[in-house]
Amino acid sequence: MQIESGTLYVVATPIGNLGDITHRALQVLEGVNRVCAEDTRNSKKLLTHFGIQNQLVALHDHNEQSKLKQLADWLLGGESLALISDAGTPLISDPGYHLVQYLQEKDIPVVSIPGASAIIAALSIAGLPTDRFIFEGFLPAKSSARKQALAEKIKQTCTQVYYESSHRILACVIDLAEIIEPDRKVVVARELTKLYEQTFCGNVNELLEWLQGDSNHQKGEFVLMVQGARPTNDTSAIALESLLTILIKEVSVKQAAKIASQITGEPKNSCYKIALTLQG
Ligand code: SAM
Repeated sequence: MQIESGTLYVVATPIGNLGDITHRALQVLEGVNRVCAEDTRNSKKLLTHFGIQNQLVALHDHNEQSKLKQLADWLLGGESLALISDAGTPLISDPGYHLVQYLQEKDIPVVSIPGASAIIAALSIAGLPTDRFIFEGFLPAKSSARKQALAEKIKQTCTQVYYESSHRILACVIDLAEIIEPDRKVVVARELTKLYEQTFCGNVNELLEWLQGDSNHQKGEFVLMVQGARPTNDTSAIALESLLTILIKEVSVKQAAKIASQITGEPKNSCYKIALTLQG
């Protein structure tokens, strides 16, 4: 692979199993002039594992803003750089957003070297709809704020994905159990790609039992996924009204109510009342 000068490569690294590093990731990490890393000690271990001895530059949440000019200057001077995080894809609940935005504004090329990300790995085995999903990252640490955030987020009709740590997974699921419908499906993917990888799938009370039943189940890294909310009555009311509007043009109000009730499962009486109102 040809490493282009003056380019930042945003490189995904494994989320646990080092066998998940990609061929292109290794070529880039070896070929660039410097590797920017969230934690240089962690990344040194990764590079050493693959026999790569490249220069590491620390780039984390606390120094990212102050490093922007220096990194852009290196790139404008013709160097090539890689950006990695501790695990998975940089910028996904990890540093790098300010850097990429800054370089974009300066028309400095940024190239993706894709690979592992916990959110995608978890969704791919959750058995929840993935045609639409929303990634909510980490929830607030304090219970009251977390419950408030969850109460808002779980209203969404698409699958919701959260990152959670071992310190908070139990507290988070306890909060969730207080506010979510007990029949909604929840899935937890734990320690993906690692030795003690596990996926649990059930309702929130079953998940709570599973977590409390074995303290090992609370260890490691977690992706929590929640089935989307059922469409609200507003949406079904609109659908029922549309159906009745069509039917009363063709058949009597009574027949329209009967057919609409059979199709939607709404009580015949309610359909009849709505049909009467629609007929004016
Ligand atoms: N950039 C990473 C990515 O692409 O997934 C995410 C970094 S974020 C700081 C770390 C969080 O990702 C963990 O707290 C956990 O929620 C999730 N995570 C990372 N690795 C994981 C794994 N192997 N199994 C389950 N969740 C994981």
